[in-house]
Amino acid sequence: MSQDKQTKYDDNNIFAKMLNGDIPYHKVFEDDKTLAFMDIMPQAKGHVLVIPKQKTCDLEDLEPEYAAAVLMTAKKVMQAQRQVFEREGIIQMQLNGSEAGQTVFHYHLHLIPSNIHELGKHAVEMADQKELAEQAKQLAALIDA
Ligand code: 5GP
Repeated sequence: MSQDKQTKYDDNNIFAKMLNGDIPYHKVFEDDKTLAFMDIMPQAKGHVLVIPKQKTCDLEDLEPEYAAAVLMTAKKVMQAQRQVFEREGIIQMQLNGSEAGQTVFHYHLHLIPSNIHELGKHAVEMADQKELAEQAKQLAALIDA
């Protein structure tokens, strides 16, 4: 990790707690290096987050094997999103640092079925938990098939 880094990894961040099994989430996919789950405040229907099982705040310290694993999981999730939500457009977004608007300091890739001109506000409106559970189930079923 860089010496001049402003943000140090906090083991109590919300995604670390998910990886530890301390808080619930709607799982879409998991393998030995990554976890994918529904975003609780989606910017569009079907918004998924992919995180590495590496403790890193942002892209700067993401190790190559985890970077590759995140992208491979993202490809699986994106293919499932295209089918489930019947949208070709999937926005891949990733914020580095609070200045960029990052709010959770464990690296994560956003996959949002939307159009850049229609994108909703970032991390504002809570989704219905039942809808998230159903969406996660549909996505997971396609990925596992
Ligand atoms: P960032 O601003 O760091 O790029 O994105 C953090 C994302 O995490 C936001 O889109 C926000 O909605 C999502 N988020 C924040 N808290 C939780 C949570 O407790 N559960 C889930 N599933 N997503 C969360």
